[in-house]
Amino acid sequence: MMSSKAFLQFSQGKCSTYTRQFQNYLRSSKCHRKQWTLEHISSVSTWSPFAAAFNTRPQRKLSLNLKLEKTGLFGIHELRDPTGFFLLKQGVEERVFRLLEEASSSTRNRKMVMVFDELSDTLCKVADMADFVRVAHQNKDVAQAAEETCVELASLVEQLNTNVALHQALQTVLTEGDKFPTDSVDQRVAELFMFDFQQSGIHLEDEKRKEFVKLNGNIHLLGTFFQRGSQKPVSIPKNKLPENLRHVFGVDGDNIMVSGLFSDHYSSMVREAAYRIFLSHDAHQADILKTLLTARYRLAKLVGFDTYSHRANKGTIINSPENIVEFLNLLSQELKPRAKIDFEDMLRLKQQEESTAKEIMPWDPPYLTAIGRQKRSTMSNMNSLPYFSLGCVMEGLNNLLQCLFAVSLQHVEMELGEAWNDDIYKLAVVHQTEGVLGYIYCDFFERYGKPNQDCHFTIQGGRRRDDGSYQHPVVVLQLSLPAARGSNIPTLLTPGNVDNLFHEFGHAMHSMLGRTRYQHVTGTRCSTDFAEVPSVLMEFFAAEPRVISTFARHYKTGEPMKKSDVKNLCDAKKIFAASDMQQQVFFSMLDQVYHGAHPLSGSTSDLLAQIQSQYCNIEYVPGTEWELRFGHLVGYGAKYYAYLVSRAVAAQVWHTCFKADPFNRFDIFPLFLSVKVSLFYVALHVFINMVISE
Ligand SMILES: [Zn+2]
Repeated sequence: MMSSKAFLQFSQGKCSTYTRQFQNYLRSSKCHRKQWTLEHISSVSTWSPFAAAFNTRPQRKLSLNLKLEKTGLFGIHELRDPTGFFLLKQGVEERVFRLLEEASSSTRNRKMVMVFDELSDTLCKVADMADFVRVAHQNKDVAQAAEETCVELASLVEQLNTNVALHQALQTVLTEGDKFPTDSVDQRVAELFMFDFQQSGIHLEDEKRKEFVKLNGNIHLLGTFFQRGSQKPVSIPKNKLPENLRHVFGVDGDNIMVSGLFSDHYSSMVREAAYRIFLSHDAHQADILKTLLTARYRLAKLVGFDTYSHRANKGTIINSPENIVEFLNLLSQELKPRAKIDFEDMLRLKQQEESTAKEIMPWDPPYLTAIGRQKRSTMSNMNSLPYFSLGCVMEGLNNLLQCLFAVSLQHVEMELGEAWNDDIYKLAVVHQTEGVLGYIYCDFFERYGKPNQDCHFTIQGGRRRDDGSYQHPVVVLQLSLPAARGSNIPTLLTPGNVDNLFHEFGHAMHSMLGRTRYQHVTGTRCSTDFAEVPSVLMEFFAAEPRVISTFARHYKTGEPMKKSDVKNLCDAKKIFAASDMQQQVFFSMLDQVYHGAHPLSGSTSDLLAQIQSQYCNIEYVPGTEWELRFGHLVGYGAKYYAYLVSRAVAAQVWHTCFKADPFNRFDIFPLFLSVKVSLFYVALHVFINMVISE
């Protein structure tokens, strides 16, 4: 998962620039691959300082020196106090004003795209940071000041996106050429800025632009309502539920409240009851969804697209809804027989608990997948925990990154006031020859009020400054790991936690290694269907026995995990992959149809039933309306398939570059470029073979 990677439309970018630059960057480095094997692991009595730092909770720094000036959040001196947000916002407004003047000035003395990128950077640096602080900071005053800054900067961005003079200045440069020499990177980034303008309807005549702004506002509101409604619990009278099931759900007077799907519950009766009740018809929510989809369709038509999906996917790797549907259909055909085997295996598992069970129902797979994994792995999650202390996993990750990219993670002491909580770690990412590439703040532990969602936030994007120096990227990785228990037991990770840690580090390394000239296209600010490639690629490493066995060792005794246990644990991660992916294909297809031509050929639930029977081995349950809980329709809107494309590309990269040797320092990025050309014919088939063979 990533944060809202771009700040509104102002900083949405694409990835092509980044890949080219990365390619050059890797080639210019003169580092040689370092072999790193089990023999290099020191014994447990001598944890490396790096591992030891992560196996002890960070200590609050106490200062006895009253004169010692503390710094502000992220080392920004204005943020020593919540009112600093106001100062920062004012600074942004002043700088933006000067940049607007520069863009329209006849005496401008640098490229137009440089002015635009600085404009975008000025806004993003404060807005993205404030967006993070408003959700992460526990102090209400700070969180509120950050929230206000977000709202005010959002309105400033809105004004800029519809600033006719600014648009005209860029348009002139694009059609007539800049007065300074430009290359293909400048040209591409300038086009992306223009693309963002057009997404805001700036090129429309007055009447249409007004309608655009109105529709946009409605879509935003409807999206918020829909998301809120998608999480709303359902209340039913007690007597509608068998007595033996009532205690599982919340009781509210004479009613039972069902707040979710209970998909991990061991009783299939509980899972079924929750499924049928939580997904029951809700006329109001259905109206909101229908109105939202219609408004999106009208907005797309207004700016000259056939459907909302055409608009949303312009400029992505896959490029058009027709290609998306082709991709999903191919994937679906290949997955069907494999998913069928998965469901047969699941049924056998179900029958071990209920001998009369005859089929797999939609409420079964998550529970049975967990059971299947448990059985495949020779070790229970509980027994494997001591082998994955946070310190040893971080050390393993660090060694892997040294092998792959010649970068190391170095623990950095923070200054007083720099972090938003006591338990944050700061890492410098240091390249063997290039030095510091950027900083990662690790906000790893659960705490009251912290969103329970793993996420990568860009705080500051990397970019080449006018004086030739490089602005370091700064990111936050947020996880929800349990804190260390006492001073003797470090934080211990489940196999799922290890996957998530690797995934989020994939995003962080994408941000660190991008080294783009412009921040508008840096790191995760790339095309949505490319954004998850580095993170999903890292998940392949987390499921590879040769990688896991370099670091899985008992935190007390230092004893390495047995090779056979490591292998079984990795195999367990891969079971039921086809059935799981089939469900993702189904969701992606539903998202495409809803964002296709309107009016829709039936109600949203009619379409769901139709698509489910076409794409899934599990039958639709009449009377349920799963789509009303599909909150991702708002955030992804016609791009839910993007994760599958990222997975396909990552699978190709893994198989081509790392399957034979996961510690291979491979120049992988030219491959990313070729993938775009041959996506269907190479990536898809390699990907499917991988699913089938593993
Ligand atoms: Zn992600």
